[in-house]
Amino acid sequence: MSKGTKVPGYMQGKGSRNPRGIIGDREIRYKCSLQNTILDVLRGRPGWQEVPGQNNIQPNVNQANPKQAGSGSTTQGTTSGYKGSFQSIPPITRNSDGDWDFYWCDREWLAQNYDTMFLYEHQKILHFRNHYELTRKNLMVKNLKRLKKQTERELGKAEGQSFEFFPTTYELPSEYHIFVEEFKKNPGIIWIMKPAARAQGRGIFLFRRLKDITDWKKGEYQPLSDPNREVPETYVVQRYIENPYLIGGRKFDVRVYVLVVSYNPLKVWLYRSGFARFSNTRFSLDSIEDTYVHLTNVAIQKNAPDYDPDKGCKWSTQQLRKYLSAKHGVEAVKKAFKGIDNIIIKSLQSVQKIIINDKHCFEMYGYDVLFDSDLKPWLIEINASPSLTASGKEDYDLKFGLLNDLLNVLDLENRLTGKEKRVGGWDLLWEDGPILADDGNMECAPNGTTASIPNSFLGCHNERKRQLRELYTAAQSIKKS
Ligand code: ADP
Repeated sequence: MSKGTKVPGYMQGKGSRNPRGIIGDREIRYKCSLQNTILDVLRGRPGWQEVPGQNNIQPNVNQANPKQAGSGSTTQGTTSGYKGSFQSIPPITRNSDGDWDFYWCDREWLAQNYDTMFLYEHQKILHFRNHYELTRKNLMVKNLKRLKKQTERELGKAEGQSFEFFPTTYELPSEYHIFVEEFKKNPGIIWIMKPAARAQGRGIFLFRRLKDITDWKKGEYQPLSDPNREVPETYVVQRYIENPYLIGGRKFDVRVYVLVVSYNPLKVWLYRSGFARFSNTRFSLDSIEDTYVHLTNVAIQKNAPDYDPDKGCKWSTQQLRKYLSAKHGVEAVKKAFKGIDNIIIKSLQSVQKIIINDKHCFEMYGYDVLFDSDLKPWLIEINASPSLTASGKEDYDLKFGLLNDLLNVLDLENRLTGKEKRVGGWDLLWEDGPILADDGNMECAPNGTTASIPNSFLGCHNERKRQLRELYTAAQSIKKS
């Protein structure tokens, strides 16, 4: 698209908006590329109104009767978040070209339009321009390795050990020869091969013998006579975690939601709730070709022959934390979950100087973390578009609350003071440095704790609605005084 082409959000010269960037006394106009829980949340949010137009899903009932938008009624979901005092007002006249305040866009849209877009002060859009630095498997590891090396150089080897949370990984084909050397040093171990840019377990396989990979490499990377053949796909080959923590004999990984509202300074929120995804079949190293045993992706597991959609393969993170605490004690679990905080912060710092920081952008990442049998957490991957499609009622409630609270953190309604450390289920984990919990917020802390603890409550109680009510009442009185 050439510079100056008008795209949704491209407002240069139109001047239809308050130049100070305050939305003021009118409804908040949003666009959304997805047709799942996020759309329900947006439609159910008092005072928010959908903008019709290209790159947006079909207009809904709220367009036909704008007043409904303010009443919180929705055709698809129910508002489970705080219904504040925000007053819906009649919509202003607008062009239907996508004049928006908030855009939950897909990554492709952003890639195509970001460079030609002009955004007003207050506009918010999902994704940072080069989010793939963290979400492509090969780039994530490259960035982590670089920061690890730099840390070792500047602060010593011991500090570098805090990066030992990602399995040994090489990019293929570029690092094939280094991989072969490493392979020979560790005969008999299992490796996992993953396409760098695919998702949902597609194209993944495990292997033990070098022969498996040389055969595969021949098929995949040998030059063919066909000149139209596409460039070979980049893969990562990674050491397979052979001793995953098992519950009921099954392997699982944990989905953790992380919100970044700024990379400079780095400002990070961590959501209390998430889930563990179990494989459907008991774990064993005998059948490394069986994806139902080794890959915990829901997309894979739901095709397992004995998959029970009612039972699903999920536990809430609260359930998991409770189970682990009962088994290993609160301290051991605190240490394990602190390891997840470390993974989050180190991985974000590894791209902090690379990500194109833009105050209009935010990102909600889905981290996939696997515990080994010593309860050590390992980073498997980071998603910039974690699935927002619900697999059942409980999953819907989780995602609805998560997304509603994300909008509460972004606070386009301007209801907060800006000093909050907790908004609904989101806790502020980092703001240019670690955040400590306020006194009295000692959930998940061992009995008798008085010392400062990090403001991190993954898997702790999430009574978000009550917290929001108290928060907004307090913020209102602070603002009045
Ligand atoms: P995708 O993006 O296709 O989901 P992932 O890297 O998340 O790819 O891997 C899919 C699944 O495979 C993970 O959820 C996990 O269960 C398993 N897995 C991936 N890497 C490893 C590893 N190094 N060790 C053990 N299991 C792994």
